[in-house]
Amino acid sequence: MAADLFGDIQYLKGVGKARSEKYRKIGISSPYELIYHIPRAYLDFRAHVPVCQAPIGDYSVLKLTIFRKMPPQRVRGGLVICKAAATDGTDDILIVVYNNVYYFQAMKEGETYYMYGKVSGNFLRREISSPVYIRADEKVLIQPIYRLTQGLSVNMVRTNMRQALEIMKQSPFETLSDDIRRRYELVPLAQALEDIHFPPSEAASEAARRRLAFDELLKLRLGMSLMKTRSRKSTAYKMDSAVDIEEFTGGLPFELTDDQKMAVSEIIADLCHDTPMNRLLQGDVGSGKTAVAAAACWFAAKNGVQSALMAPTEILAAQHFKTLTEFLEPFGVKVSLLTGSLTAKKKAEMRAAIASGETDVIVGTHAIIQKEVEYRALGLVITDEQHRFGVEQRAALAEKGSSPHRLVMSATPIPRTLALMIYGDLDISVITQLPNGRKPIKTYAVTGKLRHRAFGFVRQRLDEGRQAYVVCPMIEDSESDLFAVKSYAENAANGDLNGYTTALLHGKMRAAEKERVMEEFRSGEVQALICTTVVEVGVDVPNAAVMVIENAERFGLSQLHQLRGRVGRGEYESTCILITDNTSEECVKRMKIMSSTTDGFKISEEDLKMRGPGDFFGSAQHGLPPLKIADIATSTELMHEAQSCADKLLSEDPELSDPQNKALKMDVMRLFSKDIIG
Ligand code: ADP
Ligand code: MG
Repeated sequence: MAADLFGDIQYLKGVGKARSEKYRKIGISSPYELIYHIPRAYLDFRAHVPVCQAPIGDYSVLKLTIFRKMPPQRVRGGLVICKAAATDGTDDILIVVYNNVYYFQAMKEGETYYMYGKVSGNFLRREISSPVYIRADEKVLIQPIYRLTQGLSVNMVRTNMRQALEIMKQSPFETLSDDIRRRYELVPLAQALEDIHFPPSEAASEAARRRLAFDELLKLRLGMSLMKTRSRKSTAYKMDSAVDIEEFTGGLPFELTDDQKMAVSEIIADLCHDTPMNRLLQGDVGSGKTAVAAAACWFAAKNGVQSALMAPTEILAAQHFKTLTEFLEPFGVKVSLLTGSLTAKKKAEMRAAIASGETDVIVGTHAIIQKEVEYRALGLVITDEQHRFGVEQRAALAEKGSSPHRLVMSATPIPRTLALMIYGDLDISVITQLPNGRKPIKTYAVTGKLRHRAFGFVRQRLDEGRQAYVVCPMIEDSESDLFAVKSYAENAANGDLNGYTTALLHGKMRAAEKERVMEEFRSGEVQALICTTVVEVGVDVPNAAVMVIENAERFGLSQLHQLRGRVGRGEYESTCILITDNTSEECVKRMKIMSSTTDGFKISEEDLKMRGPGDFFGSAQHGLPPLKIADIATSTELMHEAQSCADKLLSEDPELSDPQNKALKMDVMRLFSKDIIG
């Protein structure tokens, strides 16, 4: 039976049950998925050298004829070594293959091959170990290299790939019309897929990559837009614009910044429509997003509907609960905290209050999206520090109300084009200015030699009444020589911070314990908090004006920016001291960026450049399909093209229901989980 492109890969000729398991390990379960297993690199067999010119200890391509194969040798521990003698016509070399008799058997005496591998030995006796090879009469000399797993060799994957491509060619599938392909100068999909694996030339591989990257960006954009369209179709609670928000904002202890006011009015305009709001509130750390969220909650409560605010950690949820209570209870708006660590009895009480509508605003972690929580009238859902939640969680929460308005808050500012790509299903409000009177955080990067001096400065600030964070990467001591909070806290209490009150905070502590420590820090009883990155997001203690970060090399730029954002939140001049002994170029560059700017947008752009988009864009952060081919950081132009193409397609066929867009829609659905687009 001929294998189906979308069927089980085990039916692909030459695969079978056992090998299909190996494929599944690297996320491939159908020939289609195999075809989209893009080579991570290519081997160019055209670039072969004579044996005598192959540098010892390095990888080379050689053209070799095997003249004698020796029988496999079994050595200790079940290891099998296979050897063959070969020549390039002038010099001899030994081919050595470890533990892979099958692989060795495929090389034939008397045949000539191109072989790529590490050459070792000396001028008299050279060997090449476990080479990758192709027959010398092979026409395609640029060969793909794949991400593999134990038991899958590159040759096996190549053979299977050719089979899969054959099947694809029998029923050529093209997702884009000729018209679009012409306009954006894209090669046909089938050709792109063939050429990405077996490129006849560099130009062909370039064209293939461009087509596939375009597809990827296009599908992403389409998927996001379909999500948006779907949620726009449902109706949400239409609030009353006659409710005067000034009543709330006028009662705050501070005047909102212009950006905050703008965000509040955009949100309220959305809430007064019966299509659900889908808005992203982007603002740098410390820009005052919580006050904006509070205004939205107040407005909802005055309209008789409940709001839910979800935070990524219990510490943050507890803090939001406290802040919102301060903001809202004076207006008679009832706020409750529901977290996983409450006692069963307390939880039941909370749930009852939520179900009866006694509670207006529910704050918590993901516990508030669990099934057993029933709302009387959930009309607004706010997600804080959105980068910690996946799309699916956002969707799960949205299921709670009939179709609640949604506000997503993110403190990871990103460039606008990228934001559109990642949050294409959302409208965007941006807070760029910080509240008045904030002093910029001074940042210094120093080596461990200056640690004691740095702590001298910390003590001086503590003496002036300020508080400090000291951040370490680890909880417990380990074999690495990274600082761990537990021993660090002990040493500091007896050393650099002797005579000051210190406390320990890390993620493995019990929730109640964490909350007690945070409360002591908030109240000022604890002067210095020795902690891990549990304080990374959202923690707000305006009196804290110094931060020391140990092993600063361990943290990425965005993370350092988030951490640093814990200070500089009040009227005091604040300082961040990054300590690292790492002198690698990358680390030095990161420290330089951190000391030279506090602009979150700039930092995230640099971060994107340094880390590459795969990491930034990966599902771990956004819950979106990871990009395999497109490189967002460098393909701005392609991204614009894909975007304009998507917008045009959707303007003509908003749900891609036209038969001519069927293949494309199927492809989009394969990329996104089906229930998100519906
Ligand atoms: P983030 O945007 O990082 O979540 P927060 O909402 O935690 O920032 O606000 C940071 C601090 O700034 C809080 O202490 C908050 O009370 C204060 N704040 C917010 N808006 C203003 C404002 N307009 N003027 C002065 N202080 C403000
Ligand atoms: Mg916040």
